[in-house]
Amino acid sequence: MNNQIEVNGNCHCGKIKISGKCEQGMVVACHCTDCQQFSGAPFRPVVIIKKDDIIIEGQVTEYSKIADSGNERIQGFCGTCGCQLYARAPDKSVFNVRTGFLKQQHTLTPAKHIFGQSKVAWIEKILEGRWHVGGPDSNEMHLNF
Ligand SMILES: [Zn+2]
Ligand SMILES: [Zn+2]
Repeated sequence: MNNQIEVNGNCHCGKIKISGKCEQGMVVACHCTDCQQFSGAPFRPVVIIKKDDIIIEGQVTEYSKIADSGNERIQGFCGTCGCQLYARAPDKSVFNVRTGFLKQQHTLTPAKHIFGQSKVAWIEKILEGRWHVGGPDSNEMHLNF
């Protein structure tokens, strides 16, 4: 296969490991309201991996939701640390793996954005706020906030 890449990662507590092979371009950022609510974030990027190309180690907790379309989507996450891992079809044919826990996430640029109708109103202003290299306890924050 052309442009196939290997991805891997684990949940925050380390109980679940996922690895797989996917096409570089198969990354989709979903801006639907369910993704916003599940993640507490403006959108969720996923890389699409076929059943035969994914290896899941550990016990994934699953939650079934019915989309507006009527389709059932199974949401997989770690029952211990809450890390969101994937959405899958009921027949397990395809897994949409969340890129945020994958070590390769920085190379997984979304090729498509879906549900743009519900994107957060400030998405195009994301670079306009003040950006800090460090976290909330770093000196620069105390000096500049
Ligand atoms: Zn975990
Ligand atoms: Zn979504």
